[in-house]
Amino acid sequence: MDLYEIPAWRIAQGVISGDLRAVDVLESCLERLDSLEGYIRACLDVYVDEALEEAERVDRLSQEGHHPGPLAGVPVLLKDNICVKGRRTTCGSRMLEGWISPYDATMVNLLRQAGAVVVGKTNMDEFAMGSSTENSAFFPTSNPHDLARVPGGSSGGSAAAVAAGYVPLALGSDTGGSIRQPAAFCGIHGLKPTYGMVSRYGLVAFASSLDQIGPMARDMGDLALCMDVIGQRDPMDATSRSFEGPRFIDVIRNDSLKGLRVGILRGFDEGRVDQELTMVSLMASRFCLDAGAAVSDVKLPVSMGAGLASYYIIAPAEASSNLARFDGVRFGPSVTGDTLGETYQMVRSQGFGPEVKRRIMMGTYALSSGYYDEYYGRAQRVREAIREEFRQVFRSVDLLICPPSPCLPFLKGEMAEDPVRMYLTDAFTLPANLAGVPALTVYAGRSRTGLPLAVQLMAPWGEDRRLVMAGAVLERAFGAPSVVG
Ligand code: GLN
Repeated sequence: MDLYEIPAWRIAQGVISGDLRAVDVLESCLERLDSLEGYIRACLDVYVDEALEEAERVDRLSQEGHHPGPLAGVPVLLKDNICVKGRRTTCGSRMLEGWISPYDATMVNLLRQAGAVVVGKTNMDEFAMGSSTENSAFFPTSNPHDLARVPGGSSGGSAAAVAAGYVPLALGSDTGGSIRQPAAFCGIHGLKPTYGMVSRYGLVAFASSLDQIGPMARDMGDLALCMDVIGQRDPMDATSRSFEGPRFIDVIRNDSLKGLRVGILRGFDEGRVDQELTMVSLMASRFCLDAGAAVSDVKLPVSMGAGLASYYIIAPAEASSNLARFDGVRFGPSVTGDTLGETYQMVRSQGFGPEVKRRIMMGTYALSSGYYDEYYGRAQRVREAIREEFRQVFRSVDLLICPPSPCLPFLKGEMAEDPVRMYLTDAFTLPANLAGVPALTVYAGRSRTGLPLAVQLMAPWGEDRRLVMAGAVLERAFGAPSVVG
């Protein structure tokens, strides 16, 4: 096994015990990145020198007998909407091209304190709006399993980088599925934690009531290890809170699901879902049964029905407000019109791509007086009904299984001209964001044509540990992802 293939938890163990050097691991990862990046194009920035310095520092600490932290020497990549001080943060947008972040996101501080080595930034759909990474203003990223296909999105760069073995672990953000769907498309695991479990300080906001940062990895143990580091209350994010419990890394050792009630989602438009994806969901429920769980059918008619429409009002409404700050005064291309209004217009016309403009217009319309109640108000009432539906369902089951997406990774360009078709692919992931509950996608082998398959698990609010524990059981059953390419 090459060093770049080793899971994060084993890297950390090796670096802590002195059997491995962080610098060797990093060099192996950088070589891997160098040899494939021309094809995959997952990264927007790579910090070679600074990363080598960080790795050397970790090795020194370890040699001097200090504990370098639970992620000692683990190379990580960050989605480019997470701020690293003194570095570019573009959000995949021309609007922020050349903008240098003046501070570190809480994620960066926590990862570095834990001994991780921040290697750089990954490509994404502009301002995280999209499901294919084709909305990046810079270039599209390719799926390492098939370069003609999309890696999913919006955290497509992070997913592709982990799948291809650039790094064992990356962070993404998930507003309606952007961690889980690209993880599924690239054949790795991805977790969207409970809203509030991970700090959003230093994450450029898309839709603040839905956004959540989370880990993406090829190994369930790595997701667990990362959650133990990043799942902290942060005084800098008033919506974050602490969720007491055992360490994630201890919970996943459990291989029995005895006493757990697992619901398999039924009654959605099954005909529209890829048959192999439906099949692996059934297989997953069978594996849960074998591990001692009780399995039954459940339905979420509101979430799987009106959820999509509600999300595509609420997310754009919040985005239209969050993105109002990009007006050319502090951020954006330096163009000046004859009047202030004209300057705003020029900056926003040039700085934003078509999908972001579409969202801002939808959101502004939904919030405008006369339409507010009809659109935004109604979408909020649907959201409340979805929360209630989840509360009800989680009275009778402890975990839920459903497909992560209706389709396998699609071809580049296949949906780019049809935004509504692209939105429809988010139907299974966005309910968890609307309800605030945690959700995980787990790699589930390959399709007949060799593309990755995955299943999605959801758990009640705050029960992320249970989710990752079940994820580890499924990982053992389906087999762990390996590096591709
Ligand atoms: N694909 C969804 C959207 O375009 C979700 C994006 C996300 O989670 N950031 O809004």
